[in-house]
Amino acid sequence: MGEQGSSSQLMRLSESSNSGLVNERVLFLVFEHVKWDIRTLCCVAAVSWKLRALAKRLLWRELCISRAPRMIAALTEGATNSRIIGGWPALAKLLFFCGGCDLASARQFRLGRPLRGHFAGESRFSKTSGRSFLARSCRGDVLYVSDPGEHAAAEEGCHDVVGIYRGVFRSFFKSRTRERLIARQIGFVEGVRCPYCAARVWSMTAAPLIPQRTAARKLGSSGDGAVEYYVCLNGHLHGLCWLVHLSSSDGGDEEEEDEDDDGSFCSGDEDGGDRNCINSANNGDNN
Ligand SMILES: [Zn+2]
Ligand SMILES: [Zn+2]
Repeated sequence: MGEQGSSSQLMRLSESSNSGLVNERVLFLVFEHVKWDIRTLCCVAAVSWKLRALAKRLLWRELCISRAPRMIAALTEGATNSRIIGGWPALAKLLFFCGGCDLASARQFRLGRPLRGHFAGESRFSKTSGRSFLARSCRGDVLYVSDPGEHAAAEEGCHDVVGIYRGVFRSFFKSRTRERLIARQIGFVEGVRCPYCAARVWSMTAAPLIPQRTAARKLGSSGDGAVEYYVCLNGHLHGLCWLVHLSSSDGGDEEEEDEDDDGSFCSGDEDGGDRNCINSANNGDNN
């Protein structure tokens, strides 16, 4: 059965109309040519179950490594061939996609309607920024957080702007943050799921493990309770804040640290995230 089975499998492969497409080497070359464009990979993964499986096993990981090499090296502690908590497809989605906000996860935010998820034009993830989101006792954890994307609150008569941001912990299972959440027996939030891996989430507001002032300052947000975020079982973070428009004299942040070398990542950087910047539109097309 063994030999016969595998040869008939080969026959089926070569007979299938997309056999060339499932050749890993060919696919690598194609994706290298398009600079690991996420939209192309989304399209390819939707073609057939074979390509979807291949993307899940290989291509999402390669996309993450190619587009955000330093951030991925930091998140995997150099073992980029390894599995990653929550899976590579979820991490790729987090890097390039704003999860939006459903009303269930906006308890402290008056939103007129849910904000739909979308490809993020350009996002900058930084480990230095992430530190501002960690409670003092958890500062040893490594957390990358993006800058907030602006969204209209869409409530009648309200011109406020909501910032939506996202992030990811390194080795969340070993993190102090997770340890604290479990030690405090914090329950999962009803009706809210991670927009990246669909796992259940903890509210860091309920924990409470949000350093409100440092996080608000980092986000350019205003007032108490203006920052809220959730962390899922796999260590993905998503959150909201009210954004204030800073005057030019207001814009400085005395505690700004040098972020040039923290392995951060900006999606807007065409040469593979070396300058730490991600853009879902690799060719400058931001829509
Ligand atoms: Zn958004
Ligand atoms: Zn998740």
